[in-house]
Amino acid sequence: MLRSLGLIGSIAAILPSALACGYDDCYGPIDKVEHVRHVKRMQPGAPNATYGPKAPLEWGQVNFLHTTDTHGWLQGHLKEQNYGADWGDFVTFSRRMKQTAGNLGVDLLLVDTGDLHDGTGLSDATKEDGTKSMPIFNEIEYDLLTIGNHELYVSEVAYQMFNDYSKKWGDRYVTSNVKVLNHKTGEYEYVGATHRYFTTPNGLRVMAFGVLFDFTGNSNASQVIKANDMVKESWFTEALASKKQVDLFVLFGHNPVRATDKYSTFKVVFDAIRASHPQTPVQLLGGHTHIRDFAVYDDNAVGIESGRFCETLGWMSISGFDPSNSGFHGVRHPQGVPNPTRPARDGAKSPFVYSRRYLDWNRKTFLYHSKQTEKTYDYHSGLRVTGDITRDREELKLGQVYGCAPQDYCIDCAPFTDDKKNIFPGVIHPAVSAIVLNETRKDKSRIILGNTGAIRFDLHKGPFTYDDNFIVSPFRDVFFYIADVPFDKASKVIGQLNNGVVDKRFASTRIPSDECTNPTLGHMSRRDMREPRGIVRRQDAVVPGYTTEDDWGTDGDDTQHSDVPSFSIPGYWEARASFPKDGSNPDKVDLIFFDFIQSHVLADLGAGFTADMVHCYINCTFTSQDFMLPYAKLAWQENVDNCPI
Ligand SMILES: [Zn+2]
Ligand SMILES: [Zn+2]
Repeated sequence: MLRSLGLIGSIAAILPSALACGYDDCYGPIDKVEHVRHVKRMQPGAPNATYGPKAPLEWGQVNFLHTTDTHGWLQGHLKEQNYGADWGDFVTFSRRMKQTAGNLGVDLLLVDTGDLHDGTGLSDATKEDGTKSMPIFNEIEYDLLTIGNHELYVSEVAYQMFNDYSKKWGDRYVTSNVKVLNHKTGEYEYVGATHRYFTTPNGLRVMAFGVLFDFTGNSNASQVIKANDMVKESWFTEALASKKQVDLFVLFGHNPVRATDKYSTFKVVFDAIRASHPQTPVQLLGGHTHIRDFAVYDDNAVGIESGRFCETLGWMSISGFDPSNSGFHGVRHPQGVPNPTRPARDGAKSPFVYSRRYLDWNRKTFLYHSKQTEKTYDYHSGLRVTGDITRDREELKLGQVYGCAPQDYCIDCAPFTDDKKNIFPGVIHPAVSAIVLNETRKDKSRIILGNTGAIRFDLHKGPFTYDDNFIVSPFRDVFFYIADVPFDKASKVIGQLNNGVVDKRFASTRIPSDECTNPTLGHMSRRDMREPRGIVRRQDAVVPGYTTEDDWGTDGDDTQHSDVPSFSIPGYWEARASFPKDGSNPDKVDLIFFDFIQSHVLADLGAGFTADMVHCYINCTFTSQDFMLPYAKLAWQENVDNCPI
């Protein structure tokens, strides 16, 4: 890992010092020095974790590895040591774990619960989302996959899922309540299978449903059937009434696993299953809220949610199957490994016992749980995928450095008003003030409004690359404006926005600020790593990261971390620019805002303001994806030739 860090430290970037920049020529890749090198494992420069898991996994009769909300992070986290592994490392891990399951005489199912786009350059920098990232994602031998809301915003992506992705996976791709328009038939058709009934290698008969929450922000290329309606569909009632024996239901989906979450519809489907199968075990696997979580449904049903962004790999195991309740013919108590021992809840009247664990996504974790060393771990298949990612990143020029971020800025580890640490006052407000500017109106005072959910990830100290632009601000929301709005009206909009209902787009994309589950900035650990090398004490240091609390308490995290502070942030932010230098308020301002909050803004402005007064501010293609790179070139040129992390 230290070798990798050394490589990061030597990043060289040559950038023009003249930053005059027309708004149409600044945002594509530039032919400058790239953040690129070749190593045999992980992605170039990605740091490895300093310490690893606390204990071996408990293997049951059936086990699950769960990914969710990967959002294109297949290269791993290049600046965060807790999550440094790439998809190639995971390819190797998944295959080694399948082999271990085979050797133990038990089953292992690999499950993904969607949201494959919108998050990094690898998934988003291509003309059509996912052209490069989807073939890499497909290298895992998943048993069950399903669709996320981020596959349904853009029609082309929805069609891609329907025409290509679902065909590749066949009945393993389960979309119980999502249809996409088939251009050939003119009908809306299920993207994948409505459900999957299959028998595992060890004889367990599984019925699986893949259910998206009641998402309404989709384009008209798709239809999302509400859970309440889905459970009345004939295919569903027939599946439950079928004479086929079911030993285990798998209820998975892009759907918060906690039934009390306002977006979760799992309970609706769960109750429908329970109406005809009161005792059959149900394993739930969820996603969308980007958290680590584990929820108990009843004595025979539990669910896991496995984080986001290739930071977390979820692990579940179940034992308790015997000839009286299943067709399972594998090993009852796998030998030489810990076995699950815990009932779903105290006093449960059930033969089933469980374990759950949230694994940090790094090489140390993967080596530890596959009982390998750095020398023995890699498979050719994994190395090939790592190489593919490196090649794709080079082709997309994702490593190109635009600036050198002088420090970490976070979304909610510091108060919203803290301009030294919080990304909104620290970076976003000065960035939009400087860059979101129509030259013909530059003398006008302006108020710029956006939703906090548009900013997707903390900004890490170090080289700010083309990739980081997608990571921090991945969405394409056009800047609209209304000219010459009286200041006393325009200045009140932010308060009204934050008092009103947060737009659904915001709700569906923002990172929940749950105190227990916020990810780390990891800067303390990186500082550790810059100390003189080879100090044993470092192995024992706990670094900031996930400290999860779920229905079973606080022992679910595979690697122990110290807590990261978390502050609540409002739904919307406001920046001001070109205000009078004497500190007074202007009479009128240009009021600038993201396209999709237009109706809220007009409603808040009230009588006299109508849609025909709204225009594109810079032009109709300048979006929230377009201001960070010019800002990095403007503000962060110091040390750009030798940018420390
Ligand atoms: Zn997501
Ligand atoms: Zn989602």
